[in-house]
Amino acid sequence: MDGQPAKSLTTPAQFLKGVGPDRAKSLERIGLATARDILFFFPRDYLDLSERQPLSELSEDHAVSVLVEVVELEQRRTRTGKSMLGVLMRQGPDFVRALWFNQSYMKDKLQPGQSVMLSGTPKRRGINWEFVHPRVTLLETDDCPRGEILPVYSLTEGIKQHEMRRIVSAVVEEYATEVPEVLPMAFLDEEDLWPIQQALTEVHSPSTQADLNKARERFVFQELLVMQLGLALRQQQLLATQNAPSLENSEKIDARIRRLFPFELTDAQNQAIKEIATDLQQSIPMNRLLQGDVGSGKTAVAAYAMLLTVAHGHQAVLMAPTEVLAKQHFNTLQSLIANSQVSMRLLTGSTPAAERRETLAKVQDGSLGILVGTQAIIHSDLDFQKLGLVIIDEQHKFGVLQRAMLRKDGIMPHYLVMTATPIPRTMAMTVFGDLEVSAIRDLPPGRQPVHTYLAQEDQRDKWWDFFSRKLREGRQGFVISPLVHDDAEEIASAEACLENLTNGPLADFRLDLLHGKMPSATKLHVMERFEQGETQVLVATSVVEVGIDVPNANVMTIEHGERFGLAQLHQLRGRVGRGSHPGFVCVFSSNNDEEENPRLQAFADSTDGFELSELDFALRGPGELFGTRQHGLPPLMVADLRRDAATLERARHSARKLLALDPGLRNPDFSRLRTMVLKRYGTVLELSDVS
Ligand code: ADP
Ligand code: MG
Repeated sequence: MDGQPAKSLTTPAQFLKGVGPDRAKSLERIGLATARDILFFFPRDYLDLSERQPLSELSEDHAVSVLVEVVELEQRRTRTGKSMLGVLMRQGPDFVRALWFNQSYMKDKLQPGQSVMLSGTPKRRGINWEFVHPRVTLLETDDCPRGEILPVYSLTEGIKQHEMRRIVSAVVEEYATEVPEVLPMAFLDEEDLWPIQQALTEVHSPSTQADLNKARERFVFQELLVMQLGLALRQQQLLATQNAPSLENSEKIDARIRRLFPFELTDAQNQAIKEIATDLQQSIPMNRLLQGDVGSGKTAVAAYAMLLTVAHGHQAVLMAPTEVLAKQHFNTLQSLIANSQVSMRLLTGSTPAAERRETLAKVQDGSLGILVGTQAIIHSDLDFQKLGLVIIDEQHKFGVLQRAMLRKDGIMPHYLVMTATPIPRTMAMTVFGDLEVSAIRDLPPGRQPVHTYLAQEDQRDKWWDFFSRKLREGRQGFVISPLVHDDAEEIASAEACLENLTNGPLADFRLDLLHGKMPSATKLHVMERFEQGETQVLVATSVVEVGIDVPNANVMTIEHGERFGLAQLHQLRGRVGRGSHPGFVCVFSSNNDEEENPRLQAFADSTDGFELSELDFALRGPGELFGTRQHGLPPLMVADLRRDAATLERARHSARKLLALDPGLRNPDFSRLRTMVLKRYGTVLELSDVS
């Protein structure tokens, strides 16, 4: 073996059984250079042969898998000139036929005597069964040495599936025993996890589905444990080095704040306030997420927290994702604090230079209590005199790392993120660096329901009649369209939409346009006119999705609903559920088919934002919004936050327990694990290793 120690995990692929120089090159292309690489090259899928059915039990139009042997191939042309391949296959005394049209390459895959698994939906043809274009998996006679579950690997040119299986299986047999165990035996026992060697063997060739789950769990748990340890160690270090001001609540302060609100806070709001106030009292920086459906009254909770901060002579910041929203928050807060001593200012990208300089000075000398604004705030290099609390509204992109930008000389402000798009718990525990969650699940009293319709094209006239009637009754409405310009696509742009409506169904009403590409001053004007009722209908792109609060608006038309995500649709709908009039939303789309569009159907069926967001997550995965990469953490390799939520909880619990007993994870039994954590998360989480 060319001087390589016989069983080194770093043995180059070319010296492994069944590989050789050519295949080694192929393997190299997918990152498999050594025995270790191949050991940890997990199957991308599995084929469960135990789910196969006997031919005698087929039934029409039910998808199945069957294990058969190729008997005979026949290729010919159909009358219309297509090439057709018919393959007769058998299973004991029973036969089936598989058909492929214009796929002559299938001919080269299949030889008489070859065992295959066919998956598809059979049809009866006379006394025979027929599969048209079934999925085919070639099987080797020795493919299933241990169980009934076959691994399916990602491939690269030059290596076939069965060859890959053989290569991996040989490597597992020879090298799995060489992989060092990272977790101590007692720990494995306690967590009911398989040792690494057993897990490796079974993950590549599981005997049963249960074994596969168990093997996978070992790797998932370990990956999540490493992440949770990283986050927990970071938290520990923050605690040791970063202090937050302790802001005690008192009856007097509480009464003074409550007096300012024009309404009674709801139980749900009070509960959230209680959780937040408890955090603010600690010198440990709060890291909390406030989730509440659109219109649930998060702003009031935020206002309370800011006023509590200011009552202690500290400063509070509220950041919104857009200028329109920042301005709206500013106005809301202004009427709230009109009869108090609190000083407040607005800072956005379009704040005039002179005003901005003044604001910066007040921030610095501490005379400013509350600063409301956009992201411009973090980019302004502000020097707060006594920053106590930072609140971020509707901004998921604000992750683990950005937060560090606002700390100063070992003082970390408390931190609250508000969102109407509930973040699945698994996300809160991972990409957001382990946020605590407060939820407002009830809406303020007196809210009316919002009715949602999925409409067909031929119902347009009827809908616009209804829409007009509401406007005549004194209400206002929105028309939402996904894009500003046509962009050569055949979709109704907001501009075209405005024109059609002005010259058509809404000719009698005052309409206005709002979209993201307008200068902010124009946007603010448009909003003001709409808020004051001068405009009756706002034709807009999805810029209105977050936060706009015009209680008199209660009808909404959404064009091209299929272009919006579920969370986005729900946000949009939230614009019309805010006053004392029931809301009506009508969605038009090029595709209202329930099967093809479960999203729109779910949207029409449920008004529970929590339910919808979990569903969106299930349908689409973490996607753009919650993707780990954007938050700066390395991507997960084996764990899937949708599937492995329960394991994540366990790993988190376990990480906390380990560190509670052994704060720096110094126990030599865990030194390998510790090295792993530092290697993977040390840099991104700025973990200092003071050993
Ligand atoms: P969101 O959670 O969507 O940010 P807001 O804070 O904007 O919701 O509140 C939505 C509307 O409900 C606002 O008009 C606000 O004044 C009103 N509101 C909030 N809390 C209450 C309450 N406890 N009682 C009555 N109205 C409330
Ligand atoms: Mg809001």
